Amino acid sequence: YRAKTLRTGTELFESELPQRATQRLELLSHLRRAEELGELALHFQPQMNLDTGQPVGAEALIRWQHPQLGLVSPAEFIPLAEDSGLIIPIGRWVLAEACRQGLHLLGRAPGLARIAVNVSALQFAREDFVDMVAEVLRDTRFPPQCLELELTERIVMRDVDSAVRRMQALRDLGVSIALDDFGTGFSSLSYLPNLPLNVLKIDRSFVAGAADGRTLPIVRAIMSMAEQFGFDVIAEGIETAGHVQAMLDVGCRFGQGYHFARPAPADALWPAPVPGPRR
Ligand code: C2E
Ligand code: MG
Ligand code: MG
Ligand code: MG
Repeated sequence: YRAKTLRTGTELFESELPQRATQRLELLSHLRRAEELGELALHFQPQMNLDTGQPVGAEALIRWQHPQLGLVSPAEFIPLAEDSGLIIPIGRWVLAEACRQGLHLLGRAPGLARIAVNVSALQFAREDFVDMVAEVLRDTRFPPQCLELELTERIVMRDVDSAVRRMQALRDLGVSIALDDFGTGFSSLSYLPNLPLNVLKIDRSFVAGAADGRTLPIVRAIMSMAEQFGFDVIAEGIETAGHVQAMLDVGCRFGQGYHFARPAPADALWPAPVPGPRR
């Protein structure tokens, strides 16, 4: 077995492999108990109206606070959760928690009217996915019109026809749908007119390049397609005032990124209102 680790570029010793597999298993056995131990949390990142500078929504992003390892990134444990099927209970927890906290958030800033939740391929592929969403909405009394589910091209492309049916069923509930990381999936564009979508999210790799012109033609093409098909556009990964300007210049009205706020606990972003004096 010869492999190079991408991060360090150094060659792995054979003896490290079992150890790495063991680490993975250990991480997995911890992950199984993470929810009941209260180690999972949601952070939120504001989604801004770039014209007014006001938040219009918030994306929920999962965090895992491991007692020994510290904060484990979703990029690390979501793939593990997908491979093991754990993403099903975890994904349901995310949705319910986003709705529960979202209900409090909706009133806290004028114009804040949308909570976005990421959905994984395995979740979306389940026969009972739409029922699960409906049930969580009912249980939490979260207004469906304020929920946006984020899917990726990869999820949709697996089986476009059945994905379209499922997306339509979600829209019938009142929920809106965003296509996340748009443009990174290298998938055929021919499916785009048929998708019952509300929002295209331009991947941050295009946003960064738009400010210096490199990816500007791609961003313009995305804007033009979105306009033709009637989709809103949200730019991801806005890190500088230059990024904001570049996106406004191409007519993109919404964005999120470190320039506005890093993902953080809801109360840190929008403090709970202090109860007024009793009358
Ligand atoms: P995503 O849905 O595309 O989320 C955007 C990621 O970019 C987040 O990373 C966010 O913290 C980060 N980000 C936001 N603004 C900026 C910026 O200005 N610059 C840079 N460099 N990065 C920025 P995070 O939270 O680590 O999540 C990574 C990915 O993990 C997400 O990508 C999503 O695919 C997945 N994920 C996160 N939470 C969940 C979840 O609850 N369920 C599922 N299925 N996947 C999730
Ligand atoms: Mg997302
Ligand atoms: Mg994204
Ligand atoms: Mg991404």
